[in-house]
Amino acid sequence: MEQKQTPSYSTDDRRRIARAYRVLLKSIRSEYDANDLKQIREATRMATSAHIAQRRKVDGAPYILHPLEVARICAAEIGLGPTAIIGAILHDTVEDTSITLKDIRAKFGETMEMIVNGLTKLEKAFAGESYQAENFRKILLTITKDVRVVLIKLADRLHNLRTITGMPHDSQMKIAAETSFVYTPLAHRLGLYGIKTEYEDICMKIMEPEAYKDIARRLSETKDTRKRYIDGFIEPLANKLNGLPYKYEIYGRSKSIFSIYNKIKSKGMTFDQIYDLFAVRVVLDVEPSQEKLSCWSVYSVITDVYTPIPSRLKDWVNTPKSNGYESLHTTVIGPDGRFVEVQIRTTRMNEIAERGFAAHWKYKGINNTDSTFDLWLKRLRESLEDPERNALEYVNNVRSTMLFEEEVYVFTPKSDMRLLPKGATALDFAFDIHSDVGYHCLGVKVNNNQVPLSYVLRNGDIISVTTSPKQKPTEAWLRMVITGKAKARIKQAVNEEKRRIGELGKETLLRKLKNLNVDADNTTFEFLAKFFDVISPMELFYAIAQENIDLQKMKSLDVDERHFVLPKTESTAKTDASPKQNQTNETPTTSFKRPSGDRLLLVINGEDASQFNYALATCCNPLPGDSVFGYNSINGMRIHRTNCPNATNLLANYGYRLVKVEWRDAINQSFEAHLHITGIDGMGIVQRITNAISNELHVNMTSISINGRDGYFEGNITVTVNNSTQLERIIETLKKQDGIVKVIRDH
Ligand code: MN
Repeated sequence: MEQKQTPSYSTDDRRRIARAYRVLLKSIRSEYDANDLKQIREATRMATSAHIAQRRKVDGAPYILHPLEVARICAAEIGLGPTAIIGAILHDTVEDTSITLKDIRAKFGETMEMIVNGLTKLEKAFAGESYQAENFRKILLTITKDVRVVLIKLADRLHNLRTITGMPHDSQMKIAAETSFVYTPLAHRLGLYGIKTEYEDICMKIMEPEAYKDIARRLSETKDTRKRYIDGFIEPLANKLNGLPYKYEIYGRSKSIFSIYNKIKSKGMTFDQIYDLFAVRVVLDVEPSQEKLSCWSVYSVITDVYTPIPSRLKDWVNTPKSNGYESLHTTVIGPDGRFVEVQIRTTRMNEIAERGFAAHWKYKGINNTDSTFDLWLKRLRESLEDPERNALEYVNNVRSTMLFEEEVYVFTPKSDMRLLPKGATALDFAFDIHSDVGYHCLGVKVNNNQVPLSYVLRNGDIISVTTSPKQKPTEAWLRMVITGKAKARIKQAVNEEKRRIGELGKETLLRKLKNLNVDADNTTFEFLAKFFDVISPMELFYAIAQENIDLQKMKSLDVDERHFVLPKTESTAKTDASPKQNQTNETPTTSFKRPSGDRLLLVINGEDASQFNYALATCCNPLPGDSVFGYNSINGMRIHRTNCPNATNLLANYGYRLVKVEWRDAINQSFEAHLHITGIDGMGIVQRITNAISNELHVNMTSISINGRDGYFEGNITVTVNNSTQLERIIETLKKQDGIVKVIRDH
């Protein structure tokens, strides 16, 4: 029998713990009084004795070093105050030791009990078997209660990632996936750029070690050249900047490995082709009242020396991002004609940029950016209350509209502020005000100018909506909105309308079926939907009513026991599509000959797939018409057949990575494309373009705007097309017009 030992700390352990504690105390940035200090000491004592029997798996160190380090990160890297520091010290006690929430409450009060309880719940959620989607929801719920819980959790995750190398590879992969899925977007949303960047780099190192090493090596190889270039860039500026009455710092900052990698991937570039591997940053140490003036003075100095590219000017000083980010960015043409991004900000802005949301507490009152954060929280809270959605749908929606995308804030004519996801349109706004306002939306004015319903909102816009009781949603509206609320409402209205019109189509069909002696039942409807290549019987009835379908083609079918079957004379492969069940699952169904001869479109999450980075999975080779789903793999989205041998595993374990994908009939499918044109001699150009597009090509043009000056013009055109071939035809036609020099498709 083994002898049981009372756990104890060795002398060396004690020395390490004492050192960690001292480092923690030194890192506390905010003001704290004797009582705070006493509580921090008390919490450390409590946690140290509670964790006495535990060692860290990764390095065998006393476990207590972990909570102490998490507390240090909270203090030094996020800038949190005493409450969060104490919470961090205690964060694993209830989960891992005999300490109870009651003990915490007795010693540290109610708030601390709530914080530690929140952290314990999160810990359990991730250890359990539940889907990430559900965990995600729990985390979001926690944020709306006390943001500090999540900030401590982010610090906890950061320390775990920093010490991850000692873990087995599969655990590393799991932690990396979870971090990319949950923590990185959260850190981004809370404005913790420093932490977000570190998450990304560590996760990339785990998931794509080769690419990581490659970029890291190249960065260090080019370090000297880069430094020389930055020095050369700064030199002519220094004199002029010294002439300004502000204390400043100027330096070059290399971009993170992950962001460089992303650029290589998304733009299809090589490392050597990326010119903006770094940005030059000017940080000004000035009084609050001098902030704007000083930033713009520096801007003026820089653009006196180097030519700026006007379209790259980003002014987040006047209109901060909704996560609080403030900075003035410009891109100028530096020595050797290279583009250099310059970021101008004050010390305060810099601190907010690095430490995000937490820094706002410190500066509350200087700037009114907190209100956008409050609005965001409110919106988050509302969406959590929506019981309609399933967890996956919910998470996809929140991730796309509330975490990844930033918001725009706009105003009603009565100056009420509304927060919408970036990219939201005037029509989204109308639906956001009230679903009836959206439903009957006739026109929208932005800052008193009439705009199309698809107008993309910009920060600070003042918007008024005109409604008419006669107006109602059409299918085209679906492509003009991005918010879930507007989409759901429009879809519902369109379906109602389709069903109404479809009734007429159904009547027509019933008459024909009677003549052919075929039963008008679901089997027949489903068969015909497939035969005519539409997604459902409802679409079938609608298409019949719209005369998009030639019912004469039914005559080519055979009838067996009052039901259609495919003609026997066709080759056997073509029976795949018949509703019989005796086919093997592995046979792709696409050899079924489509009578329409039309192309099928791949639709991801209701959107044209060409907007996504996806590939067809090689394990099951999905073909047009197959029932499919999308899976977000590390290398981008993969489309699998639902009967793929790998499907069950993916569906069961990675529910949160799944995306709805389907093939849709190209007949009823259209999408909006945006074209950017430039040219010379703009006289009568609008007339010529309109003629070419509407009259010659018979394509629907939804908007056109042309701005010209001195015989040069630029413009944007939006057209509704069914497929890319049609779009290419439009581009070709436009290029042939007199005076048009360039036509580019905007993505
Ligand atoms: Mn922990």
